[in-house]
Amino acid sequence: MLQFISMEEAFGQIKERASSRRVPASQVPLEDTVGCVLAEPAVANLSIPPFNNSARDGVVLSATGLTQARGGSPISLAGELRAGDSVEAANGIEGDAARIMTGAPIPVWADAVVMIEDLEFKSDGTVLVKQLPGSGAWIRPQGSDIAAGSVILNSGRCIIPEHLQALASSGIVDLVVHDSPRVGLCSTGEELVDVKSGPPGSGQIYDSNRPFMTAMIRSFGCDVVINEHVGDTLDEMVGFLNRVMDASLDLVVSSGAVSMGSYDFVKPALEAVGAEIVFHKVTQKPGKPLLFAILPNGTLYFGLPGNPVSTVVNCRFYVHHALSVMLQRPPETALELRLENDVETPEGMAVFLKARCIRGQDGVVVRALEGQESFQTMPLLEMNGWIVLGEQSGSKRAGDLVSFYPSSPHGLPDIF
Ligand code: AMP
Ligand code: MG
Repeated sequence: MLQFISMEEAFGQIKERASSRRVPASQVPLEDTVGCVLAEPAVANLSIPPFNNSARDGVVLSATGLTQARGGSPISLAGELRAGDSVEAANGIEGDAARIMTGAPIPVWADAVVMIEDLEFKSDGTVLVKQLPGSGAWIRPQGSDIAAGSVILNSGRCIIPEHLQALASSGIVDLVVHDSPRVGLCSTGEELVDVKSGPPGSGQIYDSNRPFMTAMIRSFGCDVVINEHVGDTLDEMVGFLNRVMDASLDLVVSSGAVSMGSYDFVKPALEAVGAEIVFHKVTQKPGKPLLFAILPNGTLYFGLPGNPVSTVVNCRFYVHHALSVMLQRPPETALELRLENDVETPEGMAVFLKARCIRGQDGVVVRALEGQESFQTMPLLEMNGWIVLGEQSGSKRAGDLVSFYPSSPHGLPDIF
Protein backbone atom coordinates (compact mmCIF):
# COMPACT_ATOMS: atom_id res chain seq x y z
CA MET A 1 0.00 0.00 0.00
CA LEU A 2 2.92 2.38 0.57
CA GLN A 3 4.63 1.79 -2.75
CA PHE A 4 5.10 4.67 -5.21
CA ILE A 5 2.36 7.20 -5.21
CA SER A 6 2.10 9.86 -7.91
CA MET A 7 3.25 13.44 -7.45
CA GLU A 8 -0.37 14.63 -7.49
CA GLU A 9 -1.43 12.05 -4.90
CA ALA A 10 1.51 13.05 -2.72
CA PHE A 11 0.48 16.73 -2.82
CA GLY A 12 -3.12 15.67 -2.10
CA GLN A 13 -2.22 13.56 0.92
CA ILE A 14 -0.03 16.31 2.34
CA LYS A 15 -2.87 18.79 1.90
CA GLU A 16 -5.33 16.49 3.63
CA ARG A 17 -3.07 15.92 6.64
CA ALA A 18 -1.77 19.48 6.90
CA SER A 19 -5.28 21.01 6.82
CA SER A 20 -6.00 19.73 10.31
CA ARG A 21 -2.69 21.12 11.64
CA ARG A 22 -3.20 24.87 11.36
CA VAL A 23 -0.35 26.90 12.80
CA PRO A 24 -1.54 28.86 15.89
CA ALA A 25 -2.23 32.59 15.55
CA SER A 26 -1.93 35.69 17.71
CA GLN A 27 -2.79 39.37 17.64
CA VAL A 28 0.19 41.47 16.51
CA PRO A 29 0.57 45.27 16.20
CA LEU A 30 0.20 46.33 12.58
CA GLU A 31 3.77 47.53 12.03
CA ASP A 32 5.20 44.23 13.30
CA THR A 33 3.24 42.05 10.87
CA VAL A 34 5.37 42.37 7.71
CA GLY A 35 6.30 38.87 6.55
CA CYS A 36 3.53 37.29 8.66
CA VAL A 37 0.58 35.40 7.21
CA LEU A 38 -2.89 36.68 8.01
CA ALA A 39 -4.92 34.13 10.01
CA GLU A 40 -8.18 36.12 10.02
CA PRO A 41 -9.46 38.44 7.32
CA ALA A 42 -8.75 42.14 7.87
CA VAL A 43 -11.98 44.18 7.92
CA ALA A 44 -11.96 47.96 7.35
CA ASN A 45 -13.18 49.96 10.33
CA LEU A 46 -13.50 53.15 8.28
CA SER A 47 -14.35 54.08 4.71
CA ILE A 48 -11.54 55.59 2.69
CA PRO A 49 -11.72 58.48 2.05
CA PRO A 50 -13.75 58.94 5.26
CA PHE A 51 -15.34 62.12 3.79
CA ASN A 52 -15.41 63.78 0.36
CA ASN A 53 -12.14 65.65 0.06
CA SER A 54 -10.14 67.64 -2.41
CA ALA A 55 -7.55 65.96 -4.64
CA ARG A 56 -5.87 69.29 -5.47
CA ASP A 57 -4.91 72.67 -4.11
CA GLY A 58 -7.25 75.14 -5.82
CA VAL A 59 -10.77 76.45 -5.56
CA VAL A 60 -13.97 74.57 -4.86
CA LEU A 61 -17.01 75.73 -6.84
CA SER A 62 -20.77 75.26 -6.46
CA ALA A 63 -22.91 74.57 -9.55
CA THR A 64 -23.71 78.29 -9.61
CA GLY A 65 -20.01 79.12 -9.33
CA LEU A 66 -19.36 76.80 -12.25
CA THR A 67 -21.99 78.57 -14.36
CA GLN A 68 -20.34 81.90 -13.52
CA ALA A 69 -16.98 80.45 -14.52
CA ARG A 70 -18.43 79.33 -17.84
CA GLY A 71 -19.55 82.90 -18.45
CA GLY A 72 -15.95 84.01 -17.95
CA SER A 73 -16.69 86.24 -14.94
CA PRO A 74 -14.45 86.40 -11.85
CA ILE A 75 -15.86 84.63 -8.79
CA SER A 76 -15.75 85.81 -5.18
CA LEU A 77 -14.07 83.56 -2.65
CA ALA A 78 -16.14 82.93 0.46
CA GLY A 79 -13.44 81.32 2.64
CA GLU A 80 -10.58 78.88 2.86
CA LEU A 81 -10.49 75.13 3.65
CA ARG A 82 -7.37 73.33 4.84
CA ALA A 83 -6.64 69.64 5.44
CA GLY A 84 -7.76 68.99 9.00
CA ASP A 85 -10.71 71.43 8.90
CA SER A 86 -13.93 69.72 9.96
CA VAL A 87 -16.69 68.72 7.56
CA GLU A 88 -18.97 71.01 9.59
CA ALA A 89 -16.60 73.94 9.04
CA ALA A 90 -16.63 73.21 5.30
CA ASN A 91 -20.42 73.07 5.21
CA GLY A 92 -20.56 76.33 7.20
CA ILE A 93 -18.94 78.30 4.39
CA GLU A 94 -21.65 80.16 2.53
CA GLY A 95 -20.96 81.04 -1.09
CA ASP A 96 -20.21 79.64 -4.50
CA ALA A 97 -16.44 79.37 -4.25
CA ALA A 98 -13.77 78.86 -1.61
CA ARG A 99 -10.02 78.38 -1.60
CA ILE A 100 -9.29 74.68 -0.86
CA MET A 101 -6.18 72.61 -0.12
CA THR A 102 -5.49 68.94 -0.92
CA GLY A 103 -7.18 66.71 1.65
CA ALA A 104 -9.57 69.39 2.92
CA PRO A 105 -13.26 68.41 3.26
CA ILE A 106 -15.54 69.32 0.37
CA PRO A 107 -18.59 71.43 1.37
CA VAL A 108 -22.06 69.97 0.68
CA TRP A 109 -22.77 72.72 -1.82
CA ALA A 110 -19.70 71.95 -3.93
CA ASP A 111 -19.80 70.65 -7.49
CA ALA A 112 -16.14 70.59 -8.55
CA VAL A 113 -12.62 71.65 -7.67
CA VAL A 114 -10.44 73.66 -10.05
CA MET A 115 -6.75 73.10 -9.56
CA ILE A 116 -4.46 76.02 -8.91
CA GLU A 117 -2.75 75.73 -12.29
CA ASP A 118 -6.10 76.52 -13.98
CA LEU A 119 -6.84 79.62 -11.91
CA GLU A 120 -5.91 83.27 -11.94
CA PHE A 121 -6.22 85.04 -8.59
CA LYS A 122 -7.11 88.74 -8.87
CA SER A 123 -5.91 91.45 -6.52
CA ASP A 124 -9.52 92.21 -5.53
CA GLY A 125 -9.83 88.72 -3.94
CA THR A 126 -11.79 87.18 -6.82
CA VAL A 127 -10.64 84.35 -9.02
CA LEU A 128 -10.83 83.69 -12.74
CA VAL A 129 -11.20 80.10 -14.00
CA LYS A 130 -8.95 79.61 -17.05
CA GLN A 131 -9.78 75.96 -17.64
CA LEU A 132 -13.33 74.77 -16.91
CA PRO A 133 -13.66 71.64 -14.77
CA GLY A 134 -16.15 68.85 -15.35
CA SER A 135 -18.75 68.26 -12.64
CA GLY A 136 -17.11 66.34 -9.74
CA ALA A 137 -13.58 67.21 -10.89
CA TRP A 138 -10.80 66.68 -8.32
CA ILE A 139 -13.26 65.52 -5.66
CA ARG A 140 -12.33 62.22 -3.98
CA PRO A 141 -15.71 60.75 -3.00
CA GLN A 142 -16.18 59.22 0.46
CA GLY A 143 -15.65 55.43 0.36
CA SER A 144 -14.39 55.43 -3.23
CA ASP A 145 -11.20 53.56 -2.20
CA ILE A 146 -12.36 51.33 0.68
CA ALA A 147 -15.84 50.65 2.07
CA ALA A 148 -16.20 50.42 5.86
CA GLY A 149 -16.99 46.85 6.97
CA SER A 150 -15.51 45.23 3.88
CA VAL A 151 -12.85 42.51 3.93
CA ILE A 152 -9.78 44.25 2.54
CA LEU A 153 -7.24 41.45 2.95
CA ASN A 154 -8.06 37.75 3.15
CA SER A 155 -6.52 35.22 5.49
CA GLY A 156 -3.56 33.45 3.94
CA ARG A 157 -2.09 36.69 2.56
CA CYS A 158 1.49 37.44 3.50
CA ILE A 159 1.83 41.01 4.75
CA ILE A 160 4.11 43.39 2.83
CA PRO A 161 4.78 47.01 3.82
CA GLU A 162 2.46 48.34 1.07
CA HIS A 163 -0.52 46.63 2.74
CA LEU A 164 -0.05 48.80 5.81
CA GLN A 165 -1.25 51.88 3.92
CA ALA A 166 -4.77 50.54 3.37
CA LEU A 167 -4.86 48.72 6.71
CA ALA A 168 -3.75 51.71 8.80
CA SER A 169 -5.89 54.24 6.94
CA SER A 170 -8.97 52.12 7.48
CA GLY A 171 -8.31 52.13 11.22
CA ILE A 172 -6.81 48.67 11.75
CA VAL A 173 -4.50 48.70 14.78
CA ASP A 174 -3.44 45.07 14.86
CA LEU A 175 -3.87 41.87 12.89
CA VAL A 176 -4.41 38.23 13.75
CA VAL A 177 -1.47 36.49 12.09
CA HIS A 178 -0.07 32.98 12.24
CA ASP A 179 2.84 32.44 14.60
CA SER A 180 6.08 31.35 12.93
CA PRO A 181 5.80 27.59 12.40
CA ARG A 182 8.15 25.73 14.75
CA VAL A 183 10.34 23.33 12.81
CA GLY A 184 12.88 20.69 13.78
CA LEU A 185 15.42 19.40 11.29
CA CYS A 186 18.34 17.06 11.03
CA SER A 187 20.76 15.72 8.47
CA THR A 188 21.71 12.06 8.70
CA GLY A 189 24.85 10.30 7.51
CA GLU A 190 28.10 9.09 9.04
CA GLU A 191 29.96 10.53 6.05
CA LEU A 192 29.01 14.11 6.87
CA VAL A 193 31.23 16.79 8.37
CA ASP A 194 29.91 20.14 9.51
CA VAL A 195 31.27 22.85 7.22
CA LYS A 196 32.53 24.75 10.28
CA SER A 197 34.48 21.79 11.65
CA GLY A 198 36.11 20.50 8.44
CA PRO A 199 38.12 19.52 6.54
CA PRO A 200 36.51 16.17 5.74
CA GLY A 201 38.61 13.06 6.30
CA SER A 202 38.97 10.22 3.83
CA GLY A 203 35.52 9.15 2.57
CA GLN A 204 33.82 12.09 4.23
CA ILE A 205 31.96 15.02 2.66
CA TYR A 206 30.72 18.35 3.91
CA ASP A 207 27.10 18.48 5.08
CA SER A 208 25.40 20.81 2.61
CA ASN A 209 21.79 19.79 3.24
CA ARG A 210 21.71 21.14 6.77
CA PRO A 211 22.75 24.74 5.94
CA PHE A 212 20.40 24.58 2.95
CA MET A 213 17.41 23.27 4.92
CA THR A 214 18.00 25.74 7.74
CA ALA A 215 18.09 28.67 5.33
CA MET A 216 15.23 27.51 3.11
CA ILE A 217 12.91 26.71 5.98
CA ARG A 218 13.70 30.06 7.59
CA SER A 219 12.93 31.72 4.26
CA PHE A 220 9.47 30.12 4.50
CA GLY A 221 8.96 32.16 7.70
CA CYS A 222 9.65 29.32 10.16
CA ASP A 223 11.65 29.17 13.39
CA VAL A 224 14.11 26.28 13.27
CA VAL A 225 14.09 25.30 16.94
CA ILE A 226 15.86 21.94 16.69
CA ASN A 227 18.76 21.59 14.27
CA GLU A 228 20.96 18.51 14.55
CA HIS A 229 23.17 16.06 12.78
CA VAL A 230 22.23 12.43 13.44
CA GLY A 231 24.42 9.39 12.80
CA ASP A 232 23.26 6.33 10.87
CA THR A 233 21.91 4.27 13.75
CA LEU A 234 18.38 3.42 14.75
CA ASP A 235 19.06 4.57 18.32
CA GLU A 236 20.30 7.99 17.28
CA MET A 237 17.32 8.48 14.99
CA VAL A 238 14.88 7.39 17.69
CA GLY A 239 16.62 9.82 20.09
CA PHE A 240 16.10 12.65 17.60
CA LEU A 241 12.42 11.74 17.16
CA ASN A 242 11.89 11.74 20.92
CA ARG A 243 13.47 15.18 21.20
CA VAL A 244 11.33 16.65 18.42
CA MET A 245 8.19 15.15 19.93
CA ASP A 246 9.01 16.77 23.30
CA ALA A 247 9.45 20.15 21.62
CA SER A 248 5.84 20.41 20.30
CA LEU A 249 6.72 21.41 16.77
CA ASP A 250 4.59 22.02 13.72
CA LEU A 251 6.85 20.17 11.32
CA VAL A 252 10.02 18.06 11.22
CA VAL A 253 12.33 17.52 8.26
CA SER A 254 15.26 15.13 7.95
CA SER A 255 17.61 14.53 5.06
CA GLY A 256 19.03 11.17 4.07
CA ALA A 257 18.46 7.57 5.15
CA VAL A 258 15.13 6.97 3.42
CA SER A 259 16.35 4.83 0.52
CA MET A 260 17.04 1.10 0.33
CA GLY A 261 20.50 1.04 1.96
CA SER A 262 21.36 -0.98 5.06
CA TYR A 263 21.69 2.24 7.08
CA ASP A 264 18.47 3.91 6.04
CA PHE A 265 17.05 4.20 9.53
CA VAL A 266 14.44 6.90 9.17
CA LYS A 267 11.49 4.65 8.41
CA PRO A 268 12.32 1.96 11.03
CA ALA A 269 12.84 4.72 13.62
CA LEU A 270 9.51 6.32 12.76
CA GLU A 271 7.81 2.93 13.07
CA ALA A 272 9.61 2.30 16.37
CA VAL A 273 8.14 5.46 17.93
CA GLY A 274 4.67 4.67 16.58
CA ALA A 275 4.50 7.21 13.73
CA GLU A 276 2.08 6.69 10.85
CA ILE A 277 3.84 6.43 7.49
CA VAL A 278 1.51 8.23 5.07
CA PHE A 279 3.60 7.56 1.98
CA HIS A 280 7.09 6.53 1.02
CA LYS A 281 8.35 6.94 -2.55
CA VAL A 282 6.86 9.14 -5.21
CA THR A 283 7.08 8.52 -8.97
CA GLN A 284 9.39 11.47 -9.50
CA LYS A 285 12.94 12.38 -10.35
CA PRO A 286 14.84 13.56 -8.41
CA GLY A 287 13.89 12.70 -4.84
CA LYS A 288 11.96 9.48 -5.42
CA PRO A 289 12.28 7.99 -1.88
CA LEU A 290 10.45 10.96 -0.28
CA LEU A 291 8.73 9.87 2.92
CA PHE A 292 5.84 11.61 4.66
CA ALA A 293 4.68 10.57 8.12
CA ILE A 294 2.69 11.79 11.11
CA LEU A 295 4.37 11.54 14.50
CA PRO A 296 2.27 10.17 17.38
CA ASN A 297 1.76 13.75 18.67
CA GLY A 298 0.38 14.84 15.27
CA THR A 299 3.48 16.67 14.02
CA LEU A 300 4.09 16.34 10.28
CA TYR A 301 7.34 14.61 9.31
CA PHE A 302 9.20 14.76 6.01
CA GLY A 303 12.04 12.35 5.34
CA LEU A 304 13.88 13.81 2.35
CA PRO A 305 16.36 11.70 0.38
CA GLY A 306 19.90 12.96 0.99
CA ASN A 307 21.16 13.81 -2.48
CA PRO A 308 21.47 17.59 -2.41
CA VAL A 309 19.14 18.28 -5.34
CA SER A 310 16.55 15.80 -4.01
CA THR A 311 16.60 17.70 -0.75
CA VAL A 312 16.16 21.02 -2.55
CA VAL A 313 13.26 19.81 -4.71
CA ASN A 314 11.39 18.10 -1.92
CA CYS A 315 11.88 20.99 0.46
CA ARG A 316 10.93 23.60 -2.15
CA PHE A 317 7.79 21.76 -3.27
CA TYR A 318 6.50 19.31 -0.64
CA VAL A 319 7.63 20.90 2.63
CA HIS A 320 6.58 24.28 1.31
CA HIS A 321 3.20 22.86 0.26
CA ALA A 322 2.59 21.52 3.78
CA LEU A 323 3.51 24.86 5.36
CA SER A 324 1.29 26.74 2.90
CA VAL A 325 -1.68 24.59 3.86
CA MET A 326 -0.94 24.99 7.58
CA LEU A 327 -0.79 28.76 7.08
CA GLN A 328 -3.90 28.82 4.83
CA ARG A 329 -1.80 30.27 2.00
CA PRO A 330 -3.36 30.20 -1.48
CA PRO A 331 -2.06 27.38 -3.69
CA GLU A 332 0.87 28.22 -5.91
CA THR A 333 0.28 28.40 -9.64
CA ALA A 334 2.84 27.73 -12.33
CA LEU A 335 3.90 30.11 -15.04
CA GLU A 336 3.31 28.48 -18.44
CA LEU A 337 6.40 29.18 -20.54
CA ARG A 338 7.77 28.02 -23.88
CA LEU A 339 10.73 25.68 -23.77
CA GLU A 340 13.94 26.83 -25.39
CA ASN A 341 15.42 23.34 -25.76
CA ASP A 342 14.26 19.71 -26.07
CA VAL A 343 13.75 17.73 -22.87
CA GLU A 344 13.80 13.93 -22.54
CA THR A 345 11.86 12.51 -19.59
CA PRO A 346 11.98 9.04 -18.04
CA GLU A 347 8.87 6.95 -18.72
CA GLY A 348 6.14 7.29 -16.09
CA MET A 349 8.09 9.64 -13.82
CA ALA A 350 7.30 13.22 -12.87
CA VAL A 351 10.38 15.42 -13.23
CA PHE A 352 11.66 18.58 -11.62
CA LEU A 353 14.27 20.16 -13.89
CA LYS A 354 16.71 22.86 -12.87
CA ALA A 355 15.81 25.65 -15.25
CA ARG A 356 16.39 29.24 -16.11
CA CYS A 357 13.82 31.50 -17.68
CA ILE A 358 15.32 34.15 -19.87
CA ARG A 359 14.19 36.91 -22.18
CA GLY A 360 14.28 35.53 -25.73
CA GLN A 361 13.61 37.45 -28.95
CA ASP A 362 9.90 36.55 -28.82
CA GLY A 363 9.39 37.01 -25.08
CA VAL A 364 10.25 34.91 -22.06
CA VAL A 365 11.38 31.31 -22.66
CA VAL A 366 12.61 28.67 -20.27
CA ARG A 367 15.76 26.61 -20.66
CA ALA A 368 16.28 23.23 -19.01
CA LEU A 369 19.89 23.41 -17.78
CA GLU A 370 22.72 20.95 -18.28
CA GLY A 371 23.49 18.77 -15.24
CA GLN A 372 20.19 17.36 -14.04
CA GLU A 373 21.63 14.56 -11.85
CA SER A 374 20.62 14.84 -8.21
CA PHE A 375 24.20 15.26 -6.96
CA GLN A 376 24.92 18.14 -9.37
CA THR A 377 24.69 21.43 -7.51
CA MET A 378 26.44 23.78 -9.97
CA PRO A 379 23.23 24.36 -12.00
CA LEU A 380 21.54 25.47 -8.77
CA LEU A 381 23.75 28.56 -9.03
CA GLU A 382 22.48 29.31 -12.54
CA MET A 383 18.82 28.41 -12.24
CA ASN A 384 15.98 30.73 -11.28
CA GLY A 385 13.32 28.04 -11.07
CA TRP A 386 12.06 24.58 -11.93
CA ILE A 387 10.33 23.04 -14.90
CA VAL A 388 7.82 20.56 -13.49
CA LEU A 389 6.42 17.82 -15.73
CA GLY A 390 3.83 15.27 -14.60
CA GLU A 391 4.19 11.51 -14.98
CA GLN A 392 2.11 11.49 -18.17
CA SER A 393 3.73 14.47 -19.85
CA GLY A 394 6.36 12.59 -21.89
CA SER A 395 9.34 14.26 -23.53
CA LYS A 396 9.03 17.87 -24.65
CA ARG A 397 10.28 19.74 -27.67
CA ALA A 398 11.55 23.31 -28.00
CA GLY A 399 8.52 25.59 -28.33
CA ASP A 400 6.24 23.40 -26.16
CA LEU A 401 4.55 25.06 -23.19
CA VAL A 402 5.75 23.80 -19.79
CA SER A 403 5.02 24.64 -16.15
CA PHE A 404 7.69 26.74 -14.47
CA TYR A 405 7.95 27.55 -10.76
CA PRO A 406 10.41 30.18 -9.49
CA SER A 407 13.13 29.06 -7.08
CA SER A 408 11.55 31.13 -4.35
CA PRO A 409 7.88 30.19 -3.85
CA HIS A 410 5.43 33.09 -4.31
CA GLY A 411 8.29 35.16 -5.80
CA LEU A 412 8.96 35.95 -9.42
CA PRO A 413 12.19 34.67 -10.97
CA ASP A 414 14.99 37.21 -11.03
CA ILE A 415 14.50 38.27 -14.67
CA PHE A 416 11.23 40.10 -13.96
P1 AMP B 1 21.11 8.99 1.45
O1 AMP B 1 19.79 9.57 1.09
O2 AMP B 1 21.38 9.09 2.91
O3 AMP B 1 21.24 7.60 0.93
O4 AMP B 1 22.20 9.86 0.73
C1 AMP B 1 22.23 9.94 -0.68
C2 AMP B 1 23.44 10.70 -1.15
O5 AMP B 1 23.37 12.03 -0.65
C3 AMP B 1 24.75 10.17 -0.65
O6 AMP B 1 25.72 10.36 -1.66
C4 AMP B 1 25.06 11.04 0.54
O7 AMP B 1 26.42 11.11 0.86
C5 AMP B 1 24.53 12.35 0.10
N1 AMP B 1 24.10 13.15 1.25
C6 AMP B 1 23.29 12.72 2.23
N2 AMP B 1 23.12 13.66 3.15
C7 AMP B 1 23.84 14.73 2.74
C8 AMP B 1 24.06 16.01 3.28
N3 AMP B 1 23.49 16.38 4.42
N4 AMP B 1 24.84 16.87 2.62
C9 AMP B 1 25.41 16.47 1.45
N5 AMP B 1 25.24 15.28 0.88
C10 AMP B 1 24.47 14.40 1.52
MG1 MG C 1 22.79 8.32 4.17
